[in-house]
Amino acid sequence: MTDNAATAFIGLGSNQGDPLANCLRALHKLDSDEVRVVCCSSFYRTQAVGYENQPHFINAVARVKTQLLPNELLGRMQQVEQSLGKNTPFKWGPRSIDLDLLLYDDEIINYADLQVPHPLMHERRFVLIPLAEIAPDLEHPLLRENIAHLLEETLDQKPCVRLRTDNPWLVAK
Ligand code: AMP
Repeated sequence: MTDNAATAFIGLGSNQGDPLANCLRALHKLDSDEVRVVCCSSFYRTQAVGYENQPHFINAVARVKTQLLPNELLGRMQQVEQSLGKNTPFKWGPRSIDLDLLLYDDEIINYADLQVPHPLMHERRFVLIPLAEIAPDLEHPLLRENIAHLLEETLDQKPCVRLRTDNPWLVAK
């Protein structure tokens, strides 16, 4: 990995099959010469948002270093989703794996198929809690507040329970 590699944060979520195993498989598949998984938060058990009559989700956030451009990274993430059989029957519905590009350095991107920072990240405790675990002082490039502060401010009250499960990229707390 070269010195000019970007730092990106990727949100992981799953509520089908074995959600924890799906998230771990996604991390293993992402981790490569071009996308190095530097660390990952704890896993959290969270309640589904939008369409609530479905199994709970497992969520986490990973920090990666990458030489890929944002759209290339999104493409890589979508390949990983496909390889894990992502099949979303409807918006907000159950999914074997969901990967969201939350942040890419301090870039602000507004393509039709890619918005960064992820437009809903500051409204979701299941993103902010794991992100605050690994990057509390990181500033949101649009809102100009750090992640710990955004978490304090968010109106979302949905339960988000930290699991004790280990993962190879977990930052020791
Ligand atoms: P979903 O299945 O709900 O995660 O939505 C996937 C769609 O969101 C894809 O068509 C992506 O092109 C689009 N998208 C836009 N911005 C992002 C982002 N920051 N991360 C992941 N997907 C994104």
